[in-house]
Amino acid sequence: MTTHYWSIFMDIIYPPKCPSCKTLVQEHGAWCQQCLANILSVRDINVMEHRLKYLSACRAVCEYTGGLKRIIHDMKFRQQKKYAIHLKWLLTGCRLPDYFPEINCVVPVPLHIERLKERGYNQTEIIFKEWSKEQKLRWLPDLLVREKHTIPQWELTLTDRKQNIKGAFNTTRPDRVKKQNILLVDDIVTTGITLDECAKVLKKAGATSVYALTIASGAR
Ligand SMILES: [Zn+2]
Repeated sequence: MTTHYWSIFMDIIYPPKCPSCKTLVQEHGAWCQQCLANILSVRDINVMEHRLKYLSACRAVCEYTGGLKRIIHDMKFRQQKKYAIHLKWLLTGCRLPDYFPEINCVVPVPLHIERLKERGYNQTEIIFKEWSKEQKLRWLPDLLVREKHTIPQWELTLTDRKQNIKGAFNTTRPDRVKKQNILLVDDIVTTGITLDECAKVLKKAGATSVYALTIASGAR
């Protein structure tokens, strides 16, 4: 059976469905028009307003709301790795290369080794890995490491968040950071403090600029 017929066969058994309302959709990964309209909202987080000192810019594709909120939660805490394809799909059609013209490589925000063992995967890596290849950008998942096992940021106040994440990251390969324009990626941005802490490490190691891109924004 050729790949083409195999995929038709699989579509009959497992037809593509919207991950939020389960309506049938055109292709695997896609969201239905209505659910998409509820969440899609490409916007830039104001780095000055959020007092982020190291990030040049930060863009989020959707609002952290409705079906998306549940899907991100299930992917992180209920082993629902299957949602990665739906989160990656949200990145299509946003003309991101136009927004980040000078990027050389893509770096995901790392998990601490203990959390990685517990979860079995870094959700950010499985969402963005294929995407970065499609964008013809170098994918460097090992450039940053999380050395400190931190409390989840959402449990803390703004001041405590800064303290909690301070010194949490390090770079394994400073030689690969120098003079690079790096795109940091994560599933969600709220205060931007975690992304800015990563950017700080990269800038101190000699990166020219650090941008950020996330699927969802819970920022005000
Ligand atoms: Zn839907």
